[in-house]
Amino acid sequence: MSDSPIPPAIAGLQQGGNPWSGCGPAGEVGLPNGPPRWGCVRQGTELRRGLRKTLAIACRKPPLTAPPNHLIDRLPRRARSDLLAVCEPVQLVLSEVLSEAQAPTRHVYFPTDSFVSLVSRVDEHPGLEVGMVGSEGMVGVQVLMGVAASPMRALVQGAGSSWRVDATAFKGELERSAALRTLMSQYLYVVMAQMVSSAGCLRFHQIGPRLARWLLMSQDRAHDEHFRVTHEFLAYMLGVRRVGVTEAAGELQRQGLITYHRGELTVLDRGGLEAAACSCYAANRSVYGVHVG
Ligand SMILES: [Zn+2]
Repeated sequence: MSDSPIPPAIAGLQQGGNPWSGCGPAGEVGLPNGPPRWGCVRQGTELRRGLRKTLAIACRKPPLTAPPNHLIDRLPRRARSDLLAVCEPVQLVLSEVLSEAQAPTRHVYFPTDSFVSLVSRVDEHPGLEVGMVGSEGMVGVQVLMGVAASPMRALVQGAGSSWRVDATAFKGELERSAALRTLMSQYLYVVMAQMVSSAGCLRFHQIGPRLARWLLMSQDRAHDEHFRVTHEFLAYMLGVRRVGVTEAAGELQRQGLITYHRGELTVLDRGGLEAAACSCYAANRSVYGVHVG
């Protein structure tokens, strides 16, 4: 993982942590995380995979309070246990950079109660958020297409837990599991739709509705109506000036949809915020529901 966080002034969103309990990552118990060696005697491979699964069950269960990753949950039992056998639980830290644009992808992530922004940069301009990934998705979809690097930076916006998978091991699971390939292809379409929507949103929708959409997306992924977020950070994510965010947030507050005081934001009226959001929010949820379920 890269350790070059964005400046604290714009890394303003924070949620309550939800630490993993139990065992540490796979490396601590000496488990191989790479793909199975196809030349192995099958019995030995099965024994090893069986041991890995047993230990995965014993050591890698999230605490009961941690929401699951929806993609992993959607897999059939066998494919799910095979994937979890090469996963390790990690804690993602606020403003941590999981991967830089154009850098080789070392891991893919399946967030559980953390969430990550996908940030595009053009020339020397500040970054612009083009996607957000929480427990509904995965970070590192370029691996699905056999591409070694992403065109975007992956930046942690909500600290918390996630599954992490070595990229090579994940490719091995993709080769092995038709169910995983099918689900990931469906999710890839959802990501494409989200980015197409993001481009149109930036051009045609006003700051207020875009801010409402962003707050709803964050609430969905944080699993909490309380955020810690600064105007500087919101301006950075939405690609607008800080004063525009201040005015838009003030309007949402006057309508009784949110409260905002000294960086602490609370969603008061979820339904009202949905009504205030631009159409991209409902459209993205619909695409996800149709293609992933
Ligand atoms: Zn929009």
